[in-house]
Amino acid sequence: MRIMTGLLLLVVFPLAAQEPMDRPPGKRVVITIDDLPCANCAEGTWDQMTDDLLRTLTAHRVPATGFVNENKLYRDGVLDSARYRMLERWLQAGMDLGNHTYAHLGATRTTVAEFRQDVVQGEEHLRPLMERHGRALRYFRHPFLQAGATPQRRDSLNALLAQLGYTIAPVTFDNDEYIHAYCYEHARRAKDDSLMRHLAADYLTYMAEAALFHEEQARGFFGREIPHILLIHANALNAAKLDALLTWFEQQGYRFISLEEALKDECYTRSEATTRYGFSWIRRWQLAAGQKPPWPPEIQPEVQQRYDALRN
Ligand SMILES: [Zn+2]
Repeated sequence: MRIMTGLLLLVVFPLAAQEPMDRPPGKRVVITIDDLPCANCAEGTWDQMTDDLLRTLTAHRVPATGFVNENKLYRDGVLDSARYRMLERWLQAGMDLGNHTYAHLGATRTTVAEFRQDVVQGEEHLRPLMERHGRALRYFRHPFLQAGATPQRRDSLNALLAQLGYTIAPVTFDNDEYIHAYCYEHARRAKDDSLMRHLAADYLTYMAEAALFHEEQARGFFGREIPHILLIHANALNAAKLDALLTWFEQQGYRFISLEEALKDECYTRSEATTRYGFSWIRRWQLAAGQKPPWPPEIQPEVQQRYDALRN
């Protein structure tokens, strides 16, 4: 039996090694997590959220990029050293960090000068922190994915970001996960375990639908798989459910890659349509090509209604 196994190994391995070098790279996705250190997190939970996210990312060998809002580092106007150290832990865990502006101002409703101020203020602590860890601050993520509502404004913002040394981090796997997350955080504070379970299940169903939709749109547009970029937020919902979400991607055949690797793909050199909204870059490319793409899946009505009621 041992001889048989040895023979089998000899047969299997040479075959695997002979696969053509130009084999398509298959399904790949970058995990990006916005609004660090923590989005809408309750006092006293920030450390645990950070631990949970980093432990899950590490367990799944994900080279994630987190995008920081520096105003969240302050408490009552004073820099909070514990929150600052949370960012340090992301770097120590091997993750990358990018600038998501200081105060999360959307580009659609600000002047270029106001936007510039928010970008520059957003790197005050982040850039020296990364340099101390031998890392360079490279990536920028637009708040609300608002990248300039007109071609002129987009070009001004792009020139500004390039001048400040930033590479823009687009999003293809866009979603409205913050709606589930808002309801989940509310249920968590109310200690409503049953509602938390329902929301988490709805969240995973919705995220799968959204990813499959964008995957199909990209495949239809490019005629191949592109390296996708997922946007989620650093919140209690993902602290609890990131493991299940990453497992779903693995089951779909996805491999987790870095932002740097994804952005080498030529799809990210295409110019996109401008919009005042936070569309997926796939939709922007489709619109720029004169297409009329379908709308992505909507949040479950029950969850949307719950969110609307909580916000009012
Ligand atoms: Zn954000």
